[in-house]
Amino acid sequence: MASAASLKDLLIDELKDLYSAEQQLVKALPKMAKAASNPKLKNGFNEHLEQTKGHVARLEEAFSSLGEKARSKTCKAMRGLVEEGAEAIDLDGPEAVRDACLIGAAQRVEHYEIAAYGTVRAFASTIGEQEVADLMGETLREEAETDKKLTTLAGSVNQDANGRNGETDGEPGKVSNSSASKSRSRR
Ligand code: FE
Ligand code: FE
Repeated sequence: MASAASLKDLLIDELKDLYSAEQQLVKALPKMAKAASNPKLKNGFNEHLEQTKGHVARLEEAFSSLGEKARSKTCKAMRGLVEEGAEAIDLDGPEAVRDACLIGAAQRVEHYEIAAYGTVRAFASTIGEQEVADLMGETLREEAETDKKLTTLAGSVNQDANGRNGETDGEPGKVSNSSASKSRSRR
């Protein structure tokens, strides 16, 4: 962050960072959808791609509400998270294990966004920019919902991933031993 003389400057700076982050995601999500094997996960990524385009549009509304041009400033954190997503995409191993890795990468993205939208919503609310606060609050809710859906999906995907490890001593996908039930713990 170069300079920010006020909380409004800081808000605009953070919106530029998010504008970059969401644009990076618009490019990354189709690749994650393509790499996912579980149909619900694939669907989830495609649905979130559509939502993400809406997040870009909401940021544009927020800029315009503040009388600013929509501009992005490279979000380095998202660049790193997308790189880790690419590692998940390229993971060499059983499909369900790759899916579990994709979910882990996607939830890291959602948590970053949840933190960032919580921050800009609070800044906007503090300086009395209620319209911006409301817009960012809507996106925040969608990111949190997505994170919850991923947690639910991880429940079955992790079971599948673990089942494949134990393929030699039982049916794949069926887990009944104690170490398997431990792996049910949620993120
Ligand atoms: Fe988003
Ligand atoms: Fe998101």
